[in-house]
Amino acid sequence: MSTLAVIPGDGIGPEVMAEVLKVHAVVEDAFGTGLKTEVLPYSADWFLEHGDVEIDIPAIGRTYGAVLLGALGDPRIPDNRHAIRIIGGLRQQLELSVNLRPVRLRTLAHCPLKHVRDVGDVDLVVVRENTEDVYVGVGGTVRGGRPGHVAMEVGVHTRWAVDRALEAAFELARSRPRHRLTLVDKSNAMPSAGPLWQSRFRALAASYPDVACDHLYVDAAAMELIRNPARFDVVVASNLFGDILSDEASMLAGGLGVAPSASYDPEDTSFFGVFEAVHGSAPDIAGTGRANPLASVMSYSLMLDRMGLRAAHRAVERAVDEVLRGDLLTPDLGGTARTDEVGDLICRAIARRD
Ligand code: ATP
Ligand code: MG
Repeated sequence: MSTLAVIPGDGIGPEVMAEVLKVHAVVEDAFGTGLKTEVLPYSADWFLEHGDVEIDIPAIGRTYGAVLLGALGDPRIPDNRHAIRIIGGLRQQLELSVNLRPVRLRTLAHCPLKHVRDVGDVDLVVVRENTEDVYVGVGGTVRGGRPGHVAMEVGVHTRWAVDRALEAAFELARSRPRHRLTLVDKSNAMPSAGPLWQSRFRALAASYPDVACDHLYVDAAAMELIRNPARFDVVVASNLFGDILSDEASMLAGGLGVAPSASYDPEDTSFFGVFEAVHGSAPDIAGTGRANPLASVMSYSLMLDRMGLRAAHRAVERAVDEVLRGDLLTPDLGGTARTDEVGDLICRAIARRD
């Protein structure tokens, strides 16, 4: 079987990745996935030592079955060049058009709305186009004008990438019990990108008669996520809106400490993708043992699922459920447990069920 590239990264990245590697060892014992791991050293320290060197991203795609990516970000590199080079490089060069960000409320106690209203069954996935929109770096400032007075950031949307994100979203909606898909855009204010997303959504919907489709403008969707989050099943959006909405949605289920993500090329059958927590390197809590490792463990679990290792995936999901129902939790979830204690608890829960 294949080898996983592990990039522990910066700040809390290496702390939570250590727990993922412990979990992987237990999964390996119980399920024999045959997945080996190899640590790649790319981090702020590495870049500061080696200079701003190129990384052979296509070689990573050819060599490994997937990447487990820790957070990259360090105050010593203010423009986060190294993070952009690695994360941006992986997404763009390996054409990882699809970014999945599942949000499932496993224990009502972790929902900040619990005292406001009955939130119902919050179980949604944001499918975010991962390579385009305003993240393509097209734009500039107007020369000759007064410096700092005009700035342009161009959003690029290609039918190819839009189709890939939409198709992944339809497939996902089809595979989930509620068969529901919501397109989120701002087509009332974006007369170029809006019709592209809308028309491709309608065209694809014809091939998925079993999926119930609807549409919301992004401002309304932001509101609905708070007003009635249980109405959502799969949500599909362009890069910028998907980024913002998925952070908002993650709060419904306990926040960044439990927000996983998967990025993949839906057509690539040998490289399964990049799996990383949504959170960053959190320099404010690095080294304190307060980081929640669950977001990274859940990202690892998404990888198992994508690789078709269903029994192992289910075992990790059950272990996460069990830990979230208990009171041995990190401070972000109101507990006093350390990062490694939560990791150990996950490992024990998986080992018990093998
Ligand atoms: P980066 O520049 O790498 O994105 P950041 O300062 O934006 O880092 P994030 O990691 O995005 O920090 O998270 C914002 C805050 O949320 C952190 O400062 C931290 O307090 C909290 N946080 C993030 N991830 C975790 C986690 N896994 N466990 C506990 N708290 C977390
Ligand atoms: Mg951040």
